[in-house]
Amino acid sequence: MSLPTSQDCILDHIAIAVKSISASQKIYEDLGMTFSGIIEEVVDQKVLTTFAQIDVNAHIELLEPTSNESAIHKFIESKGEGIHHLCFKVLNVKNKTLELSQKGYKFIYPEPRIGAGGCLVNFIHPKSTGGVLIEISQRPQI
Ligand code: ZN
Repeated sequence: MSLPTSQDCILDHIAIAVKSISASQKIYEDLGMTFSGIIEEVVDQKVLTTFAQIDVNAHIELLEPTSNESAIHKFIESKGEGIHHLCFKVLNVKNKTLELSQKGYKFIYPEPRIGAGGCLVNFIHPKSTGGVLIEISQRPQI
């Protein structure tokens, strides 16, 4: 699966904050999606995460907090379960962070971090994007 070089921004996943991956998985399975079967712990984010493929590029990501300190726990406490962020795949997260910062966008992290699946990620603050938390992500170099 390769990224078309002409397009430096494609939908990678829609992330949904859930109390329980096993309970929520069923909703998407009933819709006809198949989960990878892999539940990964992202220690940095204090979450469990699992993905189901939607199409050739896009996935549904379910995020379950592993701690009351998790941002996902706090999100569920204040807003309830639901869409947490959109993630777009870009060719170079570091460059995109720099480029957008220069345009005045605020990021959650000053430098990209390692996220689920070993991807390099950063998050644009919802205050910069009309209330939508946007993740930008770059596949690990193989
Ligand atoms: Zn994500």
